[in-house]
Amino acid sequence: MTDPVFVDLSTAPPPEGSAPAHATPVPPIVFDGPTDYPVEVAEHLETQARPIVARYPQARSALLPLLHLVQSQDGRLTRAGIEFCAALLDLTPAQVASVATFYSMYRRTPTGEYLVGVCTNTLCATLGGDEILRSVCDHLGVEPGDTTADHRITVEHVECNAACDFAPVVMVNWEFFDDQTPESTIELIEDLRAGVEVTPARGTGPVRSFRGTERDLAGVVAPAPSPLVEPAPSEARSRVETTSQPTSAAPDPEPEPPEAPVLSRHWSEPESWTLDNYRRHNGYRALSTALRTPPDDIIEMVKAAGLRGRGGAGFPVGMKWSFIPQGDETIPHYLVVNADESEPGTCKDMPLMLASPHTLVEGVIIAAHAIRAHHAFIYVRGEVASVLRRLRTAVDEAYAAGYLGADILGSGFDLELVVHAGAGAYICGEETALLDSLEGRRGQPRLRPPFPAVAGLYASPTVVNNVESIASVPSIVRNGVDWFRSMGTEKSPGFTLYSLSGHVTRPGQYEAPLGISLRELLDRAGGVRAGHELKFWTPGGSSTPMLTPEHLDVPLDYEGVAAAGSMLGTKALQIFDETTCVVGAVLRWTEFYEHESCGKCTPCREGTYWLVQLLRRLEHEGGTAADLDTLADVTNSVVGKSFCALGDGAGSPIVSSLEYFRDEYLAHLDHGCPFDHSRSTVWSGGVR
Ligand code: SF4
Repeated sequence: MTDPVFVDLSTAPPPEGSAPAHATPVPPIVFDGPTDYPVEVAEHLETQARPIVARYPQARSALLPLLHLVQSQDGRLTRAGIEFCAALLDLTPAQVASVATFYSMYRRTPTGEYLVGVCTNTLCATLGGDEILRSVCDHLGVEPGDTTADHRITVEHVECNAACDFAPVVMVNWEFFDDQTPESTIELIEDLRAGVEVTPARGTGPVRSFRGTERDLAGVVAPAPSPLVEPAPSEARSRVETTSQPTSAAPDPEPEPPEAPVLSRHWSEPESWTLDNYRRHNGYRALSTALRTPPDDIIEMVKAAGLRGRGGAGFPVGMKWSFIPQGDETIPHYLVVNADESEPGTCKDMPLMLASPHTLVEGVIIAAHAIRAHHAFIYVRGEVASVLRRLRTAVDEAYAAGYLGADILGSGFDLELVVHAGAGAYICGEETALLDSLEGRRGQPRLRPPFPAVAGLYASPTVVNNVESIASVPSIVRNGVDWFRSMGTEKSPGFTLYSLSGHVTRPGQYEAPLGISLRELLDRAGGVRAGHELKFWTPGGSSTPMLTPEHLDVPLDYEGVAAAGSMLGTKALQIFDETTCVVGAVLRWTEFYEHESCGKCTPCREGTYWLVQLLRRLEHEGGTAADLDTLADVTNSVVGKSFCALGDGAGSPIVSSLEYFRDEYLAHLDHGCPFDHSRSTVWSGGVR
């Protein structure tokens, strides 16, 4: 993300002495290869590209998908790919290149048939990700970023895979391989090299080649029967606590659950993601009701229910909808679902979309009807190929069933829904950065006001909501306000998904009423791993201040966690026991924020760099007591002074760890980390 953007698209080297040395303080980014594709290749690509462009109200929005498309042609972005996108979208090559260089999924070096990414973010690293990466590189004789001589395998470390409940996680061509060890990953890689078909732990079938996967991310329409292979029921696993049993018959209508789980109740059933299964459990009944209800009444219902956004901020969903100006039908409204789940520890929306995509699709249609939008988008992080395939299949099913498109269920309401793949940028989870990205630009936050409700996508009134928020709407419409408010607390009503990961006996998704405590959740999850004790935890992802065992009984709702000095965030509960070095954990999170800083504002761009330097020295070499003062000082220069919440989030782990674990920082002085990191790994015993 912090790559500077000096892009050289010329075909000849610059004349000697044409620019002073300081004009390019770092080497320019170069896309190689010829400037044009052979005619037949260009025609083939254009045939695939035109339907993609046609999905969007404005053509430039197709830029990210088109970059995936041209990456599928060459296995990386080439000069010809940049020129192709520019010509098709009436942009300059420099405009295309400036966007392409922002996103980490677009590659500039040749990629093997299988891109193997080992997650080394804090949670995976603590549980063994670092050792997996080292073992894989040693086994293949490569360094991270390299490709094997047989062009089969490219290895790299990746930031959070949004699969923390299955850590350590390895991805192959953006598919999840869960609960890995060095041995299992090497075995996986040897299978890939030998041409053995491998199937991810959760997904839509065997892993495809890198280039084939890129075509899927682009959203290329398959000319023949869909290449998707639905998995056997056992492959569709998700660690979720549910009290329901699979049903084969279809009671009509089915009794509604009086309490949680609601969202995850049917995730464990065979083929839970199909339209048939969703309908068996009252799926799309809420839509029929909603389409007969005036839009403003739907908004009032969601307001009265008190549903708060599940993406982190907790802003009331119905109130957000009510901000959309009404009355002028010539101005289009848009609904955008934020499915760019990327915060370390946060891993609830991906399993939801894998296991029950129609819950989200139905919620989208109801929400769009409420805000009078006729075009909706689900912006999904790009690094989840199976989730994108599953969601697109669900959308296709919904169109075929008459739930999407023109005159839905004879109501006169029209809606087009586009599933859009991102390309690797945590900052696109910030709603205005997401909108810029969806418009085909670098994903950088916008100045507010104007807020998206007034000037969002294409400068039109836009609602941006999280996946879980929208997926909660159908059950409210079916069961009413009182039913929803019978769960949770007065100010934080309803049910939600809590994601438990790390040193816990049974990590996974735990659906419960808001206000449950970590102590109660740990009871359900089998506790901290045997023989160990809780040291620290995050209530809502890495950007929320860490808490300690003294906070085990804090109610996990917006008010309770705030009173304890943190934030509920995304309810991503990362659990660390006493074998974990807090300085090492904070260092890795800070490296993440440095990597993901969009570079727009100085405090965050420069501050995160210096924070990483200080923490690296403390962790690896020692440092001095003055370094701790400098660490606090630099953090203070970032928090509250940055353009968007990423800067504040970067400072949270540092400030809170200095508050609770200053002695551990002091123990690092002079000689560096005193911990034996091997004791925190999964294979050191006790996690599962
Ligand atoms: Fe970009 Fe500034 Fe936000 Fe950091 S705080 S992500 S540099 S806008």
